[in-house]
Amino acid sequence: VTGFHSAPRAALIAIGTELLADGRHDTNGVTLARILASIGIETVSRMMVVDDEQEIAVALEEASERVALVIATGGLGPTVDDVTREGASRAFHLELHPDERILAALRQRYAALGRTFSDLSARQALVPRGAEILSNAVGTAPGLLLARPHGRLVALLPGVPHEMESMMRDQLVARLTAAWPERPLLSRGIKVAGLTEVEVQTRLGDLLDPLLDQGGGPRRGSVTLLAAPGEVSVMFRGKDEQHLDEIHRQARVRIGDDIFTDDMEAALEAVVGQLLVSRGLTTAVAESCTGGMLAALLTRTPGSSRWFRQGWVTYSDESKISELGVDPELIRRHGAVSAQVADAMAKAARRRSGTDFGLSITGIAGPDGGTREKPVGIVYLSLADSGGSLATRHRFAGDREAIRLIACKTALERLRRRVLSVTPR
Ligand code: ATP
Repeated sequence: VTGFHSAPRAALIAIGTELLADGRHDTNGVTLARILASIGIETVSRMMVVDDEQEIAVALEEASERVALVIATGGLGPTVDDVTREGASRAFHLELHPDERILAALRQRYAALGRTFSDLSARQALVPRGAEILSNAVGTAPGLLLARPHGRLVALLPGVPHEMESMMRDQLVARLTAAWPERPLLSRGIKVAGLTEVEVQTRLGDLLDPLLDQGGGPRRGSVTLLAAPGEVSVMFRGKDEQHLDEIHRQARVRIGDDIFTDDMEAALEAVVGQLLVSRGLTTAVAESCTGGMLAALLTRTPGSSRWFRQGWVTYSDESKISELGVDPELIRRHGAVSAQVADAMAKAARRRSGTDFGLSITGIAGPDGGTREKPVGIVYLSLADSGGSLATRHRFAGDREAIRLIACKTALERLRRRVLSVTPR
């Protein structure tokens, strides 16, 4: 296997002032990166540039010195603000000349649409010397492909997403696979709950070496660790399927049960729901500081009525007493944010709804309300089942929303752990 870096790498440039000024999303970049991965080309950078000839020239020139493939989209239209052609001409010192075939095709298209063909429209027929023309089957602006020294390529595609995509798929992909016959870039992933990013990396240890620059030896792929509140995703990418599968298998051995799924699209709450269904179990929840977020998560997945029965949002002390029957004495003695009250809430939710489990959350999400003994971020969770209940104390970091979400994810992870220990029916 050759080193990962010998494979071509791509840089994508999205051209258009509206992308920067108006916050329009560069969806072209996402589409292109996905298509490139399927033909084995890794995208290493994406940038946005305003409709400015000099800025476009600098971006194109800089990118084409760095990587083998540059794809720019946008700015190929007929109006004065479309200056991608001029930018490319300036970057690579290629003068622009009108292409007769494009002119003829444009005239024909304008005639067919009953539109007048003007000098402005003719701008779309300007081509940097030596460029290959990519015809536009679904729009007017043709694309352009420039061959650069050392087999490098620079492609200019229209900005309109469906025009860009059809040109990419119908014409450019064949050119790229001819230039670089690569295996597709494959990915494998795991999602982990209850561990921090650093803990996940520590557990993976030297397994990551072949995927890192510092690993020594040729790099055989890449790895990304991504933390979200309460969970960490790890994505392995590479071209050698066997090697990737082996890393994936080893990762599962090293991290074990803390992995809740291999499916990067699957949410923890959906995994918990499926586990409950597979064992014919149900749950109810009682929440304070999360205000219904846990119930919302548990009911986000279609089919949730099979595992979720009921939830209580008992935000005030009075509601904990009147709706869940929590003993006022417990609240007086230990406070509403306590292991004792969390236990009472979880047990009451289970008993009153007749479910297998009762899950509760009570805590201080902040920014106010913390004390020295119970600072902001203190959360008690309890899980009740037929054997009783067990409360745990946590200290979560972050702002109010983060604390609430981590509390819910941690509660879900506790439930998942408990359900895993129940033999499937
Ligand atoms: P046209 O011939 O239609 O003028 P063009 O190449 O000049 O094509 P632009 O004028 O830059 O393309 O953009 C046309 C449309 O495509 C606009 O609505 C723009 O917002 C959208 N667009 C441009 N670039 C992107 C991008 N990177 N991602 C998503 N949409 C884009």
